[in-house]
Amino acid sequence: MTGSNAAVLSSATVLSISNQKGGVGKTTTSINLVASLAQLKHRVLLIDLDPQGNASTGCGLDKNELEISVYDVLVGDATMQEAIVSTAFDFDVLPANGDLTAASVELLNQPRKEYILKTALAPILDQYDFIIIDCPPSLSMLTVNALVASDQVLVPIQCEYYALEGLSDLLDTIRQVSGSINPTLSVGGIVRTMYDMRNSLANDVSAQLLKHFRDGVFRTIIPRNVRLAESPSHGEPVWVYDRSSRGAIAYMALAKELVARQKEAR
Ligand code: ATP
Ligand code: MG
Repeated sequence: MTGSNAAVLSSATVLSISNQKGGVGKTTTSINLVASLAQLKHRVLLIDLDPQGNASTGCGLDKNELEISVYDVLVGDATMQEAIVSTAFDFDVLPANGDLTAASVELLNQPRKEYILKTALAPILDQYDFIIIDCPPSLSMLTVNALVASDQVLVPIQCEYYALEGLSDLLDTIRQVSGSINPTLSVGGIVRTMYDMRNSLANDVSAQLLKHFRDGVFRTIIPRNVRLAESPSHGEPVWVYDRSSRGAIAYMALAKELVARQKEAR
């Protein structure tokens, strides 16, 4: 367990970062939101639920050297406590690697297959203020497990031509999960990522998002910033790699906005 604090929450708020569209900034948002929340002295756990293991690598872990990963937890071979590792950045990580590909199939044969992550998280909820799940780019059983375990979903969207395509599938899946298994699940907000203000298409798509989802869109915009793209190869969140970069400043603003929204919602 790392970082401790003044936190107001006695049980973690669990957030899935999800969009089945690939490369929209899910992992970048997960790592840097977690790192910014930790900077704000919240107790945070990052769960890598993607067999690509990018969130694990981006936090400086070698995904090929993992002794225990989220896979072992999901198939019942390890406890959360055994699998969670501390990072040098004041937050914890439940790491993943390619083993997780098998889990998405193996889970299908288990009883109560949608609840496996939720059940595994229950004993550690009081140890964190926020648990953030980096979802894979699919609406697979892994994503369903993330949604069932979550209070809210944050949806990163890259404001480009096909951005809204597929959003309705995600919203349908969220509706199905909230209509049956997890009635308290809600959309915590849409985050505009990799934003280029000079691009008129980005501005058009952003205007459409604001029109449709209004307050459902975070005010903070994440700009396209090369430091954000570089920091994972150094195994560091952007605030460690370059704390004065526009990317670092934007993710800190997003973390503050998220905390303010959580307080408002209570
Ligand atoms: P996947 O669907 O494969 O899991 P993802 O949605 O997690 O992808 P990321 O891996 O976060 O997306 O980002 C895709 C690529 O874009 C990465 O190379 C990342 O470094 C880069 N990137 C993400 N956000 C930004 C940004 N704001 N500015 C510049 N580059 C970015
Ligand atoms: Mg990713």
